[in-house]
Amino acid sequence: MPLGADKLSFEETTTMQIAFIGLGNMGAPMAANLAKAGHTVIGFDTAGTTAEGVTNAATVSEAVTGADVVITMLPNGAILRGVADQVIPAMKPGATLVDCSTVDVDSARAVAEQAQAAGLKAVDAPVSGGVGGATAGTLTFMAGGTEDAFHVAKPLFDIMGQKAVHCGASGAGQAAKICNNMILGVTMIATCEAFALADKLGLDRQKMFDVVSTSSGYSWTMNAYTPAPGVGATSPADNGYKPGFASELMLKDLRLSQQAAESADADTPMGQLAAALYEQFVERENGKGMDFSAMLPRFEKRGRG
Ligand code: NAD
Repeated sequence: MPLGADKLSFEETTTMQIAFIGLGNMGAPMAANLAKAGHTVIGFDTAGTTAEGVTNAATVSEAVTGADVVITMLPNGAILRGVADQVIPAMKPGATLVDCSTVDVDSARAVAEQAQAAGLKAVDAPVSGGVGGATAGTLTFMAGGTEDAFHVAKPLFDIMGQKAVHCGASGAGQAAKICNNMILGVTMIATCEAFALADKLGLDRQKMFDVVSTSSGYSWTMNAYTPAPGVGATSPADNGYKPGFASELMLKDLRLSQQAAESADADTPMGQLAAALYEQFVERENGKGMDFSAMLPRFEKRGRG
């Protein structure tokens, strides 16, 4: 057997000690899936939350001491940087830090550099698939970091998800995530405004779906997450627009895309407009706590002025 193949199967079957920091809506089911697969999982969350099969530690340092892999699933880049300051000095040499949160590219790169300077491996690996995917173990991971670091994390991605793409160096995972979600935000708005226009033109929503879902206007938002209740795919629209993927999380990701576009001097007019519309919806139009597809009832109520 070639040396590489032997090494791979050994690593894939080894039980790891994993610290999981941030047991929220996403983190708790992800940690539970790792425990269910036979890994030893020590958790820590400032809110005191826990997950099935996970032992909680009293402090973040206690959770990461002796861990082979530390996974973080936190709200934003500032919190990630704060946690990294505590976690990195307490990790054992050669261990791997895997951040699965959605954060700004600069924070992802800074934390990876800090980890590498301390003799650790680091991967930024944000996810797509939401709470449903986290629970079912069907997330998509988009990863940034060295081959070596990705190789360590890959068997864990395979437990928590169905696909892991190594996108490039540190920060590449976050770059992929915000580009994807910028497309998602823009497409959702386009799909919703088209439905609202169709309404005003007297076009039946089902007919609109039948045409667009099989024509050049089709998209994931039209075909798989149809924002019109009772039409097309079953989605949060069929459940009173309860998230799903909340509008404020879409706003967060669109803001991250614009922050990245600013620092890379990229022209992203549609992303910029989508960010402004979700900001208006979340902060001034009671969109907070509603699914991001609730842009459709928003457009329905409005005229041109
Ligand atoms: P969440 O708010 O439910 O969970 C975050 C957890 O982090 C909370 O339980 C909080 O108590 C904990 N936390 C905060 N500060 C901490 C600290 N200093 N130490 C330890 N724990 C701390 O959020 P979520 O929905 O689980 O999302 C987590 C990340 O995943 C976010 O970056 C989000 O953008 C991303 N994400 C979410 C979804 C989704 O559908 N919810 C989908 C894809 C990506």
